Amino acid sequence: MIVAMQDKATDEQIQHVIERMVELGFNVHRTTGETQTILAGVGTPAHFEVTEFQVLSGVHQAYRISSPYKLAGRGFRPEGTRITFPNGVVVGGEEIVIMSGPCSVESKDQIRLSAQQVAAAGAQFLRGGAYKPRSSPYSFQGMGVEGLKIMREAADEHGLLVITEVMEISQIETMLEYIDCFQVGARNMQNFNLLRELGHVRKPVLLKRGIAATIEEVLLSSEYILSGGNYDLMLCERGIRTYETATRNTMDISAIPVLKKLTHLPVFGDPSHGVGIREFVPPMARAAVAAGADGLLMEMHPNPDKAMSDGAQSLTPEQLTKLVEQLRKLAPVVDRTIAPAVEKVHA
Ligand code: PEP
Ligand code: MN
Repeated sequence: MIVAMQDKATDEQIQHVIERMVELGFNVHRTTGETQTILAGVGTPAHFEVTEFQVLSGVHQAYRISSPYKLAGRGFRPEGTRITFPNGVVVGGEEIVIMSGPCSVESKDQIRLSAQQVAAAGAQFLRGGAYKPRSSPYSFQGMGVEGLKIMREAADEHGLLVITEVMEISQIETMLEYIDCFQVGARNMQNFNLLRELGHVRKPVLLKRGIAATIEEVLLSSEYILSGGNYDLMLCERGIRTYETATRNTMDISAIPVLKKLTHLPVFGDPSHGVGIREFVPPMARAAVAAGADGLLMEMHPNPDKAMSDGAQSLTPEQLTKLVEQLRKLAPVVDRTIAPAVEKVHA
């Protein structure tokens, strides 16, 4: 931490700041210039808030110079994290992975058809919420365990992996049997008890950015999972709430290269929740790939107009197929490829 004192800071004020730094465990190096004193705190005490120093009297500015997220930081694993899934699909390598399916699991027929369509389009994962976080308690809340079973069965028919959202600690145990990857939704990005618990499971997790979360907050949340010992973690940009009303959320494409620089964790883009309007999903998916995403999470419904949730942002099967074809041509421009369709992995 660097503390720059005000030009007119008194010796007493400077001394007070030094004492507080030492108390916290910093090794303090003092530089006294003609008008200003700079205090450099070396070392990383476990508990300190830079804001505490910003408001001490006589302080002009205080900056943190070490990263507050130790395990998520790129320096921890400069080569990047790779996650290998049971069917051989690797996330975090050269190949870009596609996760697709409806917002919610609605029925067996809907999921069977979805699995067939996303596999045919070239996806590696089947997505679909069995437990749904809805803004209104009166909206469809999901099919629960029955939905998990339906997904597993449908995915297995095509060699697809299953990703689905976990909302509570009590769901984890049941879910482990049916899924390949836990999704933590935007609304739960700061459900710290849930994150801590997911640190103890041995299944990969995809953590979505909260609707009003800064990039640093996403990384701090990821630290909860990593510090429990679960390193199979992916992050996902899914749009944030801004003053813009033309789209459901504002897809923060810049978060993708920024996260790629700051962390070793694979980064996904979710253009469906990112913009919330079907026709804008393909351009945002292309933008996410161009920006360096390691994968895409996209909603597709066999009949989006009849979807029980998020139909307006769900692609049709034809749109998904066309988009993946485009992405196959686009990815090489940024030295990547789209992962092969899963049937081919098995062949
Ligand atoms: C979803 O993926 O359907 C979902 C609820 O996403 P988010 O948590 O990003 O809103
Ligand atoms: Mn959704």
